[in-house]
Parts: sequence; structure tokens; C-alpha cells
Amino acid sequence: MGVCCALYLQREGYAVTLIDPAAAGDSTAKWSCGQMAIGEVIPLSRPGVMQKIPGWLLDQNGPLALRVSALPGMLPWVLRFLACARQAKTEEIARDIASLTHHVHADYAPLLQACAEPALLRESPVIKVFESAAGLEQELPQLAFRTALGFKAEVLDAAAIADLEPSLAGKFGHGLLFPDWRSVSDTEGFIAALTQSFIDQGGARVRGQVKRLDQVADHASGVTLTNGERYAVDHVVIAAGVGSRTFFDQLGAQIPLIGIAGYQVLLPTPGVKVNHSVIFPDGGFCFSPMTRGLQIGGTMEFAGPNAKPNFKRAEIILHKAREILPQMQLDNLEYGVGYRPYLPDTKPVIDRSTRLSNVFMAFGHGQLGLTLGATTGRLIAQMVAGRTPAQNLTPFSAKRFSR
Ligand SMILES: Cc1cc2nc3c(=O)[nH]c(=O)nc-3n(C[C@H](O)[C@H](O)[C@H](O)COP(=O)(O)OP(=O)(O)OC[C@H]3O[C@@H](n4cnc5c(N)ncnc54)[C@H](O)[C@@H]3O)c2cc1C
Repeated sequence: MGVCCALYLQREGYAVTLIDPAAAGDSTAKWSCGQMAIGEVIPLSRPGVMQKIPGWLLDQNGPLALRVSALPGMLPWVLRFLACARQAKTEEIARDIASLTHHVHADYAPLLQACAEPALLRESPVIKVFESAAGLEQELPQLAFRTALGFKAEVLDAAAIADLEPSLAGKFGHGLLFPDWRSVSDTEGFIAALTQSFIDQGGARVRGQVKRLDQVADHASGVTLTNGERYAVDHVVIAAGVGSRTFFDQLGAQIPLIGIAGYQVLLPTPGVKVNHSVIFPDGGFCFSPMTRGLQIGGTMEFAGPNAKPNFKRAEIILHKAREILPQMQLDNLEYGVGYRPYLPDTKPVIDRSTRLSNVFMAFGHGQLGLTLGATTGRLIAQMVAGRTPAQNLTPFSAKRFSR
């Protein structure tokens, strides 16, 4: 999110400094599945989700898990989340998210054209495979709604799956192909390449952690880092994922942002070939072929703030993946964890602060932060430049959570 905002601000003619303690590419998105999942607009809070919560509490091996210890602290968030699980609300949220995802490819195009490695975004589609016909049938109502919103999908039979993914031949009889989704071949390299493009175009990147905004009356005059360094600013964009919470008190913002953990296993030499990004909804994980190896991951874990990662969840994914592809080689495997910045209505905040008028907010993109990077960057840059974006951004207002 940060580098995409920086690139679009550069295109508006601003001199931009990107401040981040981590190396370029070493953020949550590194451990994402790397999909430009433009049709993934239906929120997790959907009718029937309430009945599933006891199962999430009991089965820590399932695709979704809620640590019992986290429940009391998370209760206000969970209640807001459940309040969204109505049909009308679910459809409203899906339409709002689609109003962003429809622009993803057009918004990434100029950033990739200016980048030395545009091929990091593969031209191939994403596929989803189901263990049974029942799995596909369960998905059909969502699919119909996505189609009504303009996203394409094709039903795959066993032969089509085998054709696309020979290593899965004979294992799955039902699937879907999303022709307008894309995936990146190196999640870390993709962001590193965008960052290099930003630097090549005159941008500055500072390794450091912002501690606070320096305030003068109703605007931010600068930022102070944890090491005491200060930078004067005309504008600030807060695009720090879950770390954006650091600034909520200063902004007077009541935003229920949490991190939902997801886990990955990276197999540098998997010994099997996977051609596409493949989703296994029954197991709650994806195969993501990357240049650095085969990444297998996903799952959602509600663990509460400051919880230590539980890499047993990565082992569970690996176990399920080996049931599908037992020949996989595990030499030098690596585990990773990322924290999706999540709001209870699954929509991001793309807004200007009401308290500090030159501070802008770009966070809370949940499971779509890689997908929505460029679109959010474009919208934020337009707002900073004082232009009103053509699309309605009210659904992404920070004020929607104020009591
Ligand atoms: C398992 C998994 C699979 C996923 N799959 C997909 C997918 O296929 N497609 C998709 O679109 N999304 C996916 N996501 C979600 C995606 O990774 C996130 O939505 C995205 O990374 C959020 O981007 P962000 O820039 O807001 O936050 P982050 O990626 O978390 O980046 C925040 C950055 O801010 C920095 N920061 C934090 N605090 C400060 C501070 N005080 N000062 C300065 N810098 C700070 C951090 O160091 C970090 O670099 C997945 C996530 C997971 C965990």
C-alpha cells in the first residue's frame, strides 16, 4: 500500500519519502498468496457465519481458527463483524469492494510499465478446485453474485483441471477458473521492484519506524521516528497495515483495526510443478508458485494483538497439501506469517483525517491489500492533490466506525 501510494504521489509531481523499518518487500504481502483477486469481493461476514464460530473455536486445524484466549478482547470486533453478516449488508459490501477492484488492472498498468520487471505480474488466471460437487454447489450463489457484478468465472471439469495442472490430474473433478484474476510470481520481488522504480524516479526510502506525527494546530508538520529523527512534511499518508493503529489516538480515530494471521510454507525445491495460483477452499489454502519456490498457505487465525505466531498452523497446511501432492520435497522449507489488516466490514479506510487535515489514511485492506495497492494509491494521490476522485469514497470513510 505504501509504495503504491508513493508511486502515484510521484506521478502527481510530489517529492515523496517512504519510511518503513522493514526491507522493501519484507511486509505482510511477502507472505500473501500473491493474487490480484479482483472478484474476491464477498466479505467473510456473510449469512450463516455466526453458526460457524463454535466450530472455529473447537477445531484449531480448520481453515479458520479463533484462539479462545483472544475472544474476550476481540468481542467488540466480533460483534461488529457479525452485524455485517446480513444478506443486504453482504451485498452492499461486495458492491463497494467491487467499485475498487474493477480498476485494479488499469491502475497497476502504469506502475508496471515504469518498472524494470513488469513480468512479475503473470498473465495467467487463478483457479479454484473442489473435493466434491457439493463444494462447487455451495459456491454457486456467491458466483452468481460475482458474475452479476461483472467478474468472470468458468466451470472446470476433471479433464480441464488436468489440462491446466497436470500434477492435479485425477485428484479433482470440479473447479472454477477466474480469467480476469492474476497472480505475481514473487510477492517479495514485486514490491521490491516497485520500490526500486520509485527510487529510480527520485523517491527516497528511509529505514525507520515512525513513532508519532508532529502536530501544529490542525495539521501535521512532520513525523518523528523512534530513533529521534524528524522529517518535515506537507502531507502524510499512513499506510502501515496493522501498524497504522499507532496513530489512531493522535488522529482521534475510532477504527477497529485488527491483524488476522495467515501462514505460509515455502518449499524452495518442491519437486512438483504447479502452473497457476490454485485455491483449495476445502482446506482453506492456496498453492502459489513463486520464483523462490512453491508457497503453500492461507488460513485465517484470530489470535488477538501481540500473540505469538503458531507455526503449527503452517504444519497443518503442509500436511493437507501433502495429501494432495505426496511427492512434494520439503528440503530447506521455511515458514512465514503475515497479519492481514482487517476491519469488521472487510472494507479498507481510504480517507483524509478530520483532525489533521493534511494526513491521509490507506489501511485495512484485509485479504486484498496486494490487489488494491495501485487503486488505493491512485485515489489517495488524487485526494492529496486536492482533486475529488470520480468514484464515491464514502463507503471507505474512517468515520463509519465513530459512535
Ligand atoms: C496468508 C495471506 C495470504 C494473502 N493473500 C493475498 C492475496 O492473494 N491477494 C491480496 O491482495 N492480498 C492477500 N493478502 C493480504 C495482503 O497481504 C495484505 O492485505 C497487505 O499486505 C496489506 O498491505 P499494507 O501495506 O496495508 O500492510 P503491510 O503489508 O502489513 O505493510 C505495512 C508496512 O508498514 C510498515 N510499518 C508498520 N508500522 C510502521 C511505522 N510505525 N512506521 C513506518 N512503517 C511502519 C511495516 O513495516 C510494513 O512494511 C494475504 C495475506 C496473508 C497473510
